[in-house]
Amino acid sequence: MASPAERHDAARLRTAPFVLPSALRQAMVAHARAAAPIECCGLLVGVGRRVMSLVPMRNVVESPTRFRIDDRAHIALQRALRATPALSIVGVYHSHPTGPSRPSPTDIAEAHYRGWLHVIVSLAGRPRVRGFVIEDGRAWPARLCTSDRAAGDG
Ligand SMILES: [Zn+2]
Repeated sequence: MASPAERHDAARLRTAPFVLPSALRQAMVAHARAAAPIECCGLLVGVGRRVMSLVPMRNVVESPTRFRIDDRAHIALQRALRATPALSIVGVYHSHPTGPSRPSPTDIAEAHYRGWLHVIVSLAGRPRVRGFVIEDGRAWPARLCTSDRAAGDG
């Protein structure tokens, strides 16, 4: 069972901002448009809460309403990142070609990595990029900043 201090930490971490540079947001929207009408997906690589690059992945279920990253490609990326220990997989992104920019019940049910940033790109209307933390069957909106400066110190 979590101590009060641990619960406090968990609440703080959910609300602390993530850094997601504009160029990466634009790259996600471009990937989403290229993949439409199926959902695109990919992994986010960075340090802590700072996303530094995208690794586009194939959506192995090729669905307009679901995505699944190839387990082998995910493991291969983890192995490749061992060469640069500062970097790790910090999240995942996928698109909703015609759906809203919030996690679907399936997205919430299938989110297994605590602390990951889950980015959703909606192409319904004007493209929207939003981030969420999904834990214990619930999704919290995550604040996304374009730079460390905007994120501040805490
Ligand atoms: Zn989704």
